[in-house]
Amino acid sequence: MNILSFDVGGTTIKYGLVNQDFEVLSKGSIETPDNENNFLNIIDTVASKYLDKFEKISIAMPGFVSKKESKYLYGTNIKYEIDFKKLEGFEPSKFSIDNDGNVAAYAEYQLNYKNKVENLIMLTFGTGIGGGIISNGKILRGGSNAGELGHILISDDSQIQCNCGKRGCLESIVSARSWTEQCKVLSQNEPESELAIRFSEQNLGSVLFDEKIKLTSEQILSRDIIISYISRGLVSIFEIFNNELFVLGGSMSSQPYSLLNLIKDNIDSNFTFTARVFPEIKISKFKSDSGIIGSALLAQND
Ligand SMILES: [Zn+2]
Repeated sequence: MNILSFDVGGTTIKYGLVNQDFEVLSKGSIETPDNENNFLNIIDTVASKYLDKFEKISIAMPGFVSKKESKYLYGTNIKYEIDFKKLEGFEPSKFSIDNDGNVAAYAEYQLNYKNKVENLIMLTFGTGIGGGIISNGKILRGGSNAGELGHILISDDSQIQCNCGKRGCLESIVSARSWTEQCKVLSQNEPESELAIRFSEQNLGSVLFDEKIKLTSEQILSRDIIISYISRGLVSIFEIFNNELFVLGGSMSSQPYSLLNLIKDNIDSNFTFTARVFPEIKISKFKSDSGIIGSALLAQND
């Protein structure tokens, strides 16, 4: 069964036609609109482009969803409700919806790590930070929408307000968007630096983690603050869930540079885990396709 799969982010909607072997046959992307009508029009337009080539539509959304009602309820980066029952020719049996962090975690677990671990936690770094928790082989849903790991409180720095309204959330400090913003500021402060030159060429915030670049002392300080917050986030999450693996994905996973080494070094030097081992941290094997693939995988099992 082919599935037309959408991975919706705060900035971009990625979509792809995924076959029963979870290969992405064809894909594209489009800017995320700012209202429900335009959103539904985009889904209808893409669906008509792939007419007769898929049996089911599946959508991963960055926030709270109601699977039962086929609705997106709310998220910090898309704040309007979307009722997918308004789609052209909507049929409940041919539609599936879930949270983007959940689907990405589920894809990594089912397709890459199922025989190795039972407890996996995924964090996707993009405009925000999505989270998905696989506990004993199943998505942990809590009341309905557990796993919003981007909104755990990590700092008492009242300067930083998250889109959710709280101050000091993990995603407001260390999402891919926030470290790209940080790179912009660092480049403006020291326009002749190697970082500024590389950033102007690639416009990619993760160049800050490229250990081949000779950073200035101000840049090292900024990078280390980001790494320290990510590390503290991972350690806190591990203390709650005792997971065996972390997988980091999202837009940065195509070019993470030395992000993993920097996090591992920081955790090794600052924390000890008596009688336990801190889990391995891996970059998503699906790169930025994990949402599309995971959404298709969940839709097959729904
Ligand atoms: Zn928040």
